[in-house]
Amino acid sequence: MIIILKQGVDKKQVEQLSSWLESNADVHVNPIFGSMTTILGLVGDTSSVDMGSIRSNEMVEDVKRVSEPYKKANRKFHPDDTVIEIGKQKIGGGHFQVIAGPCSVESKEQILEVAGAVSAAGSKMLRGGAFKPRTSPYSFQGMRAEGLELLLEAKKETGMPIVSELMSLSHLELFEDVDVIQIGARNMQNFELLKELGHCDKTILLKRGLANTIEELLMSAEYIMSGGNEDIILCERGIRTFETYTRNTLDLSAIPLLKKYSHLPVVVDPSHATGQAWMVPTMAKAAIAAGADGLLIEVHNNPCKAKCDGAQSLNCEEFADLMTDLKRRIEFEGKTL
Ligand code: PEP
Ligand code: MN
Repeated sequence: MIIILKQGVDKKQVEQLSSWLESNADVHVNPIFGSMTTILGLVGDTSSVDMGSIRSNEMVEDVKRVSEPYKKANRKFHPDDTVIEIGKQKIGGGHFQVIAGPCSVESKEQILEVAGAVSAAGSKMLRGGAFKPRTSPYSFQGMRAEGLELLLEAKKETGMPIVSELMSLSHLELFEDVDVIQIGARNMQNFELLKELGHCDKTILLKRGLANTIEELLMSAEYIMSGGNEDIILCERGIRTFETYTRNTLDLSAIPLLKKYSHLPVVVDPSHATGQAWMVPTMAKAAIAAGADGLLIEVHNNPCKAKCDGAQSLNCEEFADLMTDLKRRIEFEGKTL
């Protein structure tokens, strides 16, 4: 971190400020006295240094970070790709996963049919929402606890690990047999929820918020990791832009960026990113080419009748066709499904 001081600050003031900084964080301050301006270089662990309070000091002109504020999620301190094991499945470090299933669990017949179909097509992990974050309180809110029960039945029947979204800590105990807890876009910065997940032993699929930066996503991962849980899968699911032809704008550049700055696996959700089923195959292929470690794809046995996100859901046949194509591309990238 670099602190640029205002002109006219004398040596005594620099000493005072330096010792205040050193007493507040595990840092060492190196002052550089120029003819006009003095600069302080902070070395050490600057992650707990509050830039706002430094900026508010009357001697300070500006403050700049030169290293990332996240440590545990940072590839600098963990050069190798993290490989996460979920049951018998792996993701990251060359292991690719296609996580597929309906937006919401709607009935026993529906989830068992979709689970059977995506499994037959080659998907090894099943998704399904039981607690749904809906814009309108009048829309279908998910089958809640019963939905999780049905998802567990599908897990038993197919052997597939399951992924489902947690929206409130008060539901956490219902997720005991859920393999991966999804934290949706709307809760990416629910810091109390993230802190609590730092103490649980489950893999977390952390989705990027609707209007959050890459750094904010990594800081949210850091919240969970700093509590001790390092099994995190990052998910790019599109961000809000001015474009209206798509539901969101898939930020493909997030993939190489996240892979550069972090060692955590990155999956892409082309369903929520585009909002339209016909675009899902194209963007899924683009995500593979851009270096993703996995995909999260919504599949429904009857999209026209889906209670949630039907327009962006592939039907079972479309998903099977897509998988045939994706398998070749995943292999071409040197990854295993
Ligand atoms: C979902 O995966 O069903 C979902 C609600 O996603 P997001 O949080 O990305 O909108
Ligand atoms: Mn959905």
